[in-house]
Amino acid sequence: MYLAGIDLGGTAIKAGLVDENLKLVCKTSVPTGVGRPYQEIVFAMAQAVLSAAREKGISPDEIASVGIGIPGVAPKGIAIAINMYWHGIPLEAEMRKHLDVPVYIDNDATVAAVYEYHLGALAGCSVGVLLTLGTGIGGGIVINGKPFSGAHGLGSELGHMPIVHNGIQCTCGNKGCLEVYASASALIAMGRRCVIEQPKSMLHHLTGGDYLKVTPKMIFDCAKEGDRIALSIVEEYVDKLKLGICAIENALDPDVIAIGGGISGAGEFLLDRIIRASEGVGIFNGQKYADIRLAVSGNDAGVIGAAMLGLS
Ligand SMILES: [Zn+2]
Repeated sequence: MYLAGIDLGGTAIKAGLVDENLKLVCKTSVPTGVGRPYQEIVFAMAQAVLSAAREKGISPDEIASVGIGIPGVAPKGIAIAINMYWHGIPLEAEMRKHLDVPVYIDNDATVAAVYEYHLGALAGCSVGVLLTLGTGIGGGIVINGKPFSGAHGLGSELGHMPIVHNGIQCTCGNKGCLEVYASASALIAMGRRCVIEQPKSMLHHLTGGDYLKVTPKMIFDCAKEGDRIALSIVEEYVDKLKLGICAIENALDPDVIAIGGGISGAGEFLLDRIIRASEGVGIFNGQKYADIRLAVSGNDAGVIGAAMLGLS
């Protein structure tokens, strides 16, 4: 038997099947076509699974379950995904019209955490947390091997914990969320300010003064070269991220907090700083708190992790 996984994104539907060894045996990708009726998108998702299976000579009867990672939440199988313009669509029921097997749906960061639990940085954790630092900040929590999204399926939105009272406006409607201060977008905004305000900085030089060219990698590269201004941007960034880590440690006391998403490409350079900054943020001084590690992830983690929802 095989577990099907679907990674639903704003631009592409990625789908595939994993075997009993959790190995991806086939995959495919089709455009999402955000904005068309949800029935069409769900049909395309099911067809993607079936066409991937067909190419490998796998019959639909050999598919045991379908797991779906979405850029949103799905309490009781009803999906809310703002970027998809989904405000409560019956995703589970619609999928079962095409593939009549158990359907599991979860947030994409939670799916990534499930992947990390089975194949990556959260292996062996009784409580594991993944923070994905990308355009926004995603949060995934796995407790005793099962994804945890709270009593109503709305939890683990770690990017939206407020860290500043009346702070910067967040896309979620609240102000001062961790995401506005510690996502890749936040880091880029800090770099852009530097290009505009510090004409002698390495970042200004590297971008030729065009602030739109700033990337997180550029900021980390300058900091690694020892550029004082870039280093101070990284320090300030880590200082904000630390507040999120502090809240996670005090609320959940995880074994491991894994750092994923585009920003984690900065590697040990960033990780060392996060670890140092987070020392002693848990309230019980001297006690052992979470190990902070880089996530393993990988290109197909979204599809494989979604398929793994069928294991829980
Ligand atoms: Zn928010």
